[in-house]
Amino acid sequence: MSKLPNVTTSIFTVMSKMASEHNAINLSQGFPNFPVDERLTETVSRLAKEEVHQYTPMSGYTPLLVKIAALVKSSYNRNILPETEILVTAGATQAIFTALLAILKPNDEVIILDPSYDCYEAPILLSQAKPIRVALNDDYTPNWTTIEKAFSQKTKMIIINNPHNPTGKILNESDFENLEFLLEKYPNVLLLSDEVYEYITFEQKHISTHSRPKLLDRCIMVSSFGKTFHVTGWKIGYLVAPDYLMKEIKKVHQFLVFSVNSICQVAVSEYLDLVSINKIGPFYREKRDYFRTLLKNSRFKLMPCEGTYFQVASYANISNENDIDFCKRLITEYGVAAIPISTFYENGKDLKLIRFCFAKDNHTLEEATKRLCKI
Ligand code: PMP
Ligand code: GLN
Repeated sequence: MSKLPNVTTSIFTVMSKMASEHNAINLSQGFPNFPVDERLTETVSRLAKEEVHQYTPMSGYTPLLVKIAALVKSSYNRNILPETEILVTAGATQAIFTALLAILKPNDEVIILDPSYDCYEAPILLSQAKPIRVALNDDYTPNWTTIEKAFSQKTKMIIINNPHNPTGKILNESDFENLEFLLEKYPNVLLLSDEVYEYITFEQKHISTHSRPKLLDRCIMVSSFGKTFHVTGWKIGYLVAPDYLMKEIKKVHQFLVFSVNSICQVAVSEYLDLVSINKIGPFYREKRDYFRTLLKNSRFKLMPCEGTYFQVASYANISNENDIDFCKRLITEYGVAAIPISTFYENGKDLKLIRFCFAKDNHTLEEATKRLCKI
């Protein structure tokens, strides 16, 4: 009788709860623990006393829509129309859920790359559509041959997540060429591009779908101010889509949330004039490097990390346990919480890998790695 019989409580909730029960340092669920930029918190306090407490327009506070268009222009040199091509959402989760629910029909197939973040499958299933998981290569690059083989007449959409949670991998120019080539062969297939970590890349620059003219007429691009401005609890993000898709998406959005938290929208809108968006990548790059240096003498083997604020590590040298048991023991015996990578796979593939979130102040990183180096 359940509509989602195989869906359980998300691993992020499970691990954060366990971390708090055991008073462990929480490097599991992805959220920063350092202070939010004071200019943002001061804006919120000031706004609390202003007339910003009623519904905004359904698609978003108008000045925010204009500033998102300006951000996309300055970041990727793409012109988008604020009134018809942008929707402010209660985080990327709601953007993705709303878009999938608005577009998918029963028996449609949606290609998801495995391992993948957990929020895509439920709205696909609730639409009575079918998720088709295609494994990434061992180095987490997409295998365009197997992806193409998974396409069928029923394929409605492919979902990409770039930079990628949990692996920290980013797509390169040739990935996009392959994707464009494939989609040219399938003119009716849509693309959902989850780019919530678009501003968190390191050595290589992020390639956004915004900068791929061949994809724009069928792409839904999703971003999150929660990630970009270190305010995950605000639950504010946006999606960009061509008008014909946006019309459908707004039909659902208006009945799911109608409009998003007004104070946060105004605050983000004002903050966009103050913030240097290009400093976010270098800021997290320093954290990544510090975290990796601190773990250098541990028995964990660190995987490459090109973007996001997640570091994947192998514990194969340490234990034979499955990754869920290992993460539980990491909490109870060593006081550090991480995420088991098997939970990102359709079939729970256990490669003895776990994910740490390094979006933490230096003290937290030092204390956590001190514990991890004892293992
Ligand atoms: N997509 C990915 C890849 C994520 O990692 C997350 C969240 N953390 C989301 C979507 C959801 O973002 P939000 O918190 O803005 O809903
Ligand atoms: N995206 C966050 C992560 O990967 C989790 C957000 C959530 O718990 N919904 O850790």
